[in-house]
Amino acid sequence: MNINSLLSRSANSVQQSLTRRLFDLASQYDDVINFTLGDPDVVPAQKIRDAACRAIQAGKTRYSANAGLLELRQAICEDLAVSHKLNYTPSNVIVTVGGMGALYLVFLSIINSGDEVIMASPGWVNYGQMVQMCGGVPVVVPTQEDDGFAIQAHAFEAAITSRTKAIVLNTPSNPTGEILSEATLQALADIAKQHNILVISDEVYTALAYDGAIVPSIATLSGMQGQTILINSFSKKYSMTGYRVGYAVGDEELIRNMTKLQENISACAPLPSQYAALACLKEITYEEIAEMVNVFKKRRDVFIEEINQIPNLSCRIPQGTFYAFVNIQETGMTSLDFAMALLEQEHVAVVPGITYGKDGDHYIRIACTISEDLIREGVRRIKHFMQTRCH
Ligand code: PLP
Repeated sequence: MNINSLLSRSANSVQQSLTRRLFDLASQYDDVINFTLGDPDVVPAQKIRDAACRAIQAGKTRYSANAGLLELRQAICEDLAVSHKLNYTPSNVIVTVGGMGALYLVFLSIINSGDEVIMASPGWVNYGQMVQMCGGVPVVVPTQEDDGFAIQAHAFEAAITSRTKAIVLNTPSNPTGEILSEATLQALADIAKQHNILVISDEVYTALAYDGAIVPSIATLSGMQGQTILINSFSKKYSMTGYRVGYAVGDEELIRNMTKLQENISACAPLPSQYAALACLKEITYEEIAEMVNVFKKRRDVFIEEINQIPNLSCRIPQGTFYAFVNIQETGMTSLDFAMALLEQEHVAVVPGITYGKDGDHYIRIACTISEDLIREGVRRIKHFMQTRCH
């Protein structure tokens, strides 16, 4: 049988990301410093692990409602009432298989073949791939380092056509770490209202903001609660990527449709993980979260301090996330060449910026999801690489 002749357009068009490719290549070296994956080395708090184990021991291992445990959806509403000062009810919430599950279900719910979704570049690669998997067309709008990678609302507006269904925002951003300002969000909100476009606001890194930065949410702006589908996840805030729990909050009708689709894909998020997520909201204190955020802040500070001492490299201080987006333009190398040579020569794995769109090709992305000592060693090797390549 020729399986290739059976493969769908989705299967053929979607590529394995360079993030994964570099991660896989890195595994051939025993002494590699791996800066590729946004998968923190921190183990979840004992209370979270206990909650998952308790659920398993008590046999809470069956399916939940497709939209997720009512208790968890209620707790998510209470959390958002505090963090965003927005009132939602459980019928506005769907618990999903990670934030990724939530994003995919939104796209699947709104996209017909040929529909367009606008997103920023450099930006997280999976948005575009998911849109393509749903038969849609990702429309990528460049942002510039000189503007702090802020979205220019007029550029987003210029990209709108009669096929535009939604815009995607990601604040703080993977890969740049930048937080969208309230003024930018207000300009985008005005455009979204004027053109009747859904705003998909991916806020999975919202807890990871540094130096007192506040991450404004477009959902809180006047008239935007019903027009925004807010995506969040327990993966990054509580370091529980493998538990696979995220959620979407928004218009009841949209959530109902996403739930219908989830029934046919995964039925629900894993139940023991949902109990662990409930423990996050009920038992983890602000102090405990602040402690973890501080771990990532210290790592960021170490990385930024050291990388900016290397001639021909520069890096803006990311305001949030655990990523740093390092400018390699002065080396004259493409980001893929840089990443491959760095891996082969120094056994340091980074993600080539081209992964995040062609506007990312002057950059590499570093994930500070490893210890401070490993970060220091990684930067030492990058310095050695630069001395041998660019003297
Ligand atoms: N959104 C962004 C920008 C991400 O970087 C990620 C993961 O890396 C996700 C969403 C989804 O994470 P998860 O599915 O683990 O919640």
